[in-house]
Amino acid sequence: QDESTDIVVIGAGGAGLSAAVEATNAGAKVIVLEKMPMVGGNTTRATGGLNAAGTEAQKKKGIEDSQELFYQDTMKGGYNKNNPELVKILTTQAKDSVVWLESMGADLSDVGRAGGASVSRIHRPTGGAAVGSNVISTLKNKVKEQNIDVRVKNKAVAIIKEQQGKVTGVTAENKDGKAYTINAKVVILATGGFSANQEMVISYKPELKGFATTNHPGALGEGITLGESVGANLVDMAEIQTHPTVVPEKGVMVTEAVRGNGAILINKDGKRFINELLTRDVVSKGILDQKDGVAYLFFDDGLRKGLKAVEEYFNMQLVTEADSVEELAGKIGVDKDAMMKSVKTYNDAVAAKQDKEFKRDDLPLQLNQGKVYAIQVTPAVHHTMGGLQINTNAEVMNKEGQIIKGLYAAGEVTGGVHGGNRLGGNAMADIVTFGRIAGQNAAKAAK
Ligand code: ADP
Repeated sequence: QDESTDIVVIGAGGAGLSAAVEATNAGAKVIVLEKMPMVGGNTTRATGGLNAAGTEAQKKKGIEDSQELFYQDTMKGGYNKNNPELVKILTTQAKDSVVWLESMGADLSDVGRAGGASVSRIHRPTGGAAVGSNVISTLKNKVKEQNIDVRVKNKAVAIIKEQQGKVTGVTAENKDGKAYTINAKVVILATGGFSANQEMVISYKPELKGFATTNHPGALGEGITLGESVGANLVDMAEIQTHPTVVPEKGVMVTEAVRGNGAILINKDGKRFINELLTRDVVSKGILDQKDGVAYLFFDDGLRKGLKAVEEYFNMQLVTEADSVEELAGKIGVDKDAMMKSVKTYNDAVAAKQDKEFKRDDLPLQLNQGKVYAIQVTPAVHHTMGGLQINTNAEVMNKEGQIIKGLYAAGEVTGGVHGGNRLGGNAMADIVTFGRIAGQNAAKAAK
């Protein structure tokens, strides 16, 4: 026998859980479907942080930022292909998302620098710890406290739409593969991206054939297909981002915060070759242009002390360590003299506060404290910018430019917020901000 509820949220990542919490706050009855055995989705893997402008944490650190600058950076980073209205919402409301998450116990007190940002605005837990697990555990606790019906190992397989075009529910499969129907006033798609669906990735961007991915295995893009089945318009599908620093074979992503906090990139000839703080697409291409398409992240104990997130890479034995640059060069097999010279030139640039070679504008520390380290990296598929077209209410649009009644979407399943390239820290900002908007508006629509 069929069930009924106000709202079905499909996907229990950052966007879906944010939507579920807000919809419940607004008095709606919510069921969350999650196909994997646990909640969190790809959001759990987010290490960098959450971009927001005008926060208390920034003020405490004396960082001058504005929503306008955040907007400009985001548009520029996305090559102005972004939907300006969505970016406006993102950049003005992200700071409220920080307050909202903190009010539930999340730790976003540390602020760092990320690629493509004019100032430090990426918010993360104390000591630069990973953001995704912190935010997901916060949302998980809240969902529990609110008694929301979250069903893991339950997969949405179809969206039900009545003749007049209104969405009226979902067909799901339970953990035994048995199909059942949930009638709902509103459905929210929060299924994430499709980076782990190699076939789908290369159908939109053939040059990514053979690339590894940083994503969780559930990032298969079913939400795109579900949306399309009820007429949703897709935007920017070929805009697929590679993350520049992923450990070859292992597929482990090394957070952008390592570069943001001061690490440099060295190629197999022992040379620096790029401003490490350029956007992900540019740095990815820069690495692919080097010998064997790889580079080394180089850092020291000074950096290690200020960034907890790197400890994970030591635990996973991805780091080569040495007592001197010369020894390290020997261990990773690059030219010793060239590498020593590159590090010296960089340290001199930090002292002079000017990087003449590559014009890196943020030079936080000299790399000459204690031990030195190297991690080999290469780009891998990381984020799919394209997806379902939404408006500023997170309503899904059809191919005729009209709203599909009863269908909302938020997070990586949508397109338009990031344009041609997403800045590090903007995924977390996007999923929480638009997840909340979807939840709030869905609750209104369900009344
Ligand atoms: P976002 O960052 O946009 O929140 P995530 O990847 O963190 O995206 O979360 C999306 C979640 O949706 C994942 O946990 C994924 O397993 C889940 N999901 C994807 N497709 C389905 C589906 N058809 N039914 C239920 N859950 C799904």
